[in-house]
Amino acid sequence: MPETLISSEVNFDAEGKQHGFLRLPHSVHRSAYGWIPVPIVVIQNGKGPTTLLISGNHGDEYEGQIALTKLCHELEPEDICGRLIILTMANYPAALAGTRISPIDDGNLNRIFPGNALGSPTEMIAHYIEEVLMPMCDYMFDFHSGGSSLLYPATLLRGLGHSSEEQDTLLELQQAFDAPYAWVFTSGGGPNTTARTAMGAAGRKGVISIMAELGGGGTVSRSILALTERGIKRLLHCIGSLPDYRPDAANGTRELQVSGSVSAYDSGLFEPYLGPGDEVTEGDEAGAIHHPEEPWREPTVIRVSHSGIILCKRFQGQVERGDYLYQIAMNLRETKQ
Ligand SMILES: [Zn+2]
Repeated sequence: MPETLISSEVNFDAEGKQHGFLRLPHSVHRSAYGWIPVPIVVIQNGKGPTTLLISGNHGDEYEGQIALTKLCHELEPEDICGRLIILTMANYPAALAGTRISPIDDGNLNRIFPGNALGSPTEMIAHYIEEVLMPMCDYMFDFHSGGSSLLYPATLLRGLGHSSEEQDTLLELQQAFDAPYAWVFTSGGGPNTTARTAMGAAGRKGVISIMAELGGGGTVSRSILALTERGIKRLLHCIGSLPDYRPDAANGTRELQVSGSVSAYDSGLFEPYLGPGDEVTEGDEAGAIHHPEEPWREPTVIRVSHSGIILCKRFQGQVERGDYLYQIAMNLRETKQ
């Protein structure tokens, strides 16, 4: 067992369905010997792959948290082959607060891997995931959304794979998840092993990983939640963990690569003219930033920087210089390794 101060209430080697907490020691004014309770469910039945399913990596992203919570209720050991390790609120303090980053240490879990066994609570969680959980795993699925500030359509994210075999597997997972869009990382040959994300951690540990952006704006979309629940079961079926599940016909996925973004260079109130899925041409008007503190001032016109399709848009109305307003993607040009 690598050095960690986190102790698990579940036994990762036991058959059956267990639930409990990862206890992260946290000594504070109101609780001298207290611990942060990171919820964990482990379901194991005989031989098969081990998969780590993560939501609440960012605390204000909800579809994944709901879908994995429902999955914990639905699945019994006899339904699966192998082992599922489920973290519904991976950065528990952030998820409890409904914020992207932890209110305890300002830690952004998906920017802090490989973490630190003796670091801040968020660093300790990252270290535990990368050094304790990942080495047990064959697959890692990490479910995100646009959070409070962005709005995405249901979009799978994947790398190109480090080998042709991994490339084939990632394509099969993408087809299984069957989201309307897939954002394919075309640089770095798959999850970049220097990345400070959960996918980066997976890459360092030889774990095949995908993630997904599933809505956002601090809301829950019932249609995207349904796609998420269906997609998770299809993923588990695809890897042989849910043998009796019968997937329905696939709808198909449009593969994209991100080609650019549009940022605010001014502060004010953002009036978006575009939304996810809109086809755009470079130079199109994308929105306006209004200046009610100087109502005599002309609005700042925002223009599209690249031709393509709007993948995500800023959800919040208030903007400052440097805020991300749109992400623009284009059809994937298949890049062979
Ligand atoms: Zn996220």
